[in-house]
Amino acid sequence: MVGRIPDGLAGPRAGGRGVSLAQGFSAGRERGHAPRGGGLRGRADMHIHSLYSDGTASVTQILEHVEQHTDLDVIAITDHERIDGALRACELHAGGAHSFDLVIGEEVTTRRGHVLALFVTERIPALRPLAETLHAIHAAGGVAIAAHPLAPLPLSVGKRSLRGVRDHAHEDVYFDALELFNPSYAGRTRQGARLELNAAELGLPGVGNSDAHVLEGIGTGFTTFAGHTATDYRAALLAGDVTADGAHWTSTHNVDVYRRQLRAKLRHLWHTVKPGHDDWR
Ligand SMILES: [Zn+2]
Ligand SMILES: [Zn+2]
Repeated sequence: MVGRIPDGLAGPRAGGRGVSLAQGFSAGRERGHAPRGGGLRGRADMHIHSLYSDGTASVTQILEHVEQHTDLDVIAITDHERIDGALRACELHAGGAHSFDLVIGEEVTTRRGHVLALFVTERIPALRPLAETLHAIHAAGGVAIAAHPLAPLPLSVGKRSLRGVRDHAHEDVYFDALELFNPSYAGRTRQGARLELNAAELGLPGVGNSDAHVLEGIGTGFTTFAGHTATDYRAALLAGDVTADGAHWTSTHNVDVYRRQLRAKLRHLWHTVKPGHDDWR
């Protein structure tokens, strides 16, 4: 069951703009034919949290921020165990003028850690065995990425599980990529071990994401890829032609994020219980 599906989202329209729910993304309007930041490679940040989970900004603010203050070509909103925020963002994105693509996503908690599900249009069940979740994401036509693997906190897919997935017999049980760069504290710990394991044993495409919970965090981790559209990003992942990049947050920023998350959570709770208040969306 998909949440509220916006009207007229059957497929890409003439001129390249439109939403293809079947493909799990919304294409930007009036887009150019080159990456927004110039050069040959596009930039994607596919791990962003909104107020729908533990982020501090509304999906409206996120879309505005990405348009005005970043040169990202593709983003995904990936709230914990929720896809309704991403679907709402998709609706807003399709209704406005944007020069970047928006991919529908979710951060799914499995029994072995966090997994990003991208290009999906329905929620993937949480707290299931890792193999089952990977199977479900691929069966739904999505892409599965291990979020901040090896990090002790929050729950992250560990070494043994990564090897288990690599050796799994079922053809739908695999990771499309590893999040090799994540600028948060969780991402910084075990950064070396993560790179080493992938280089020595796994050989998976490595992406960078911000895991942003505040507006200015968006784009602090990113992936460069050949092209500049959501379709290009997906093709680049498949071809392994992606590069993880970004800059780690300072300890002060980490603490500031936690403080603002707490405040936003309280405000959000208040808005949720108070009828008629949906400005947070
Ligand atoms: Zn996570
Ligand atoms: Zn996250």
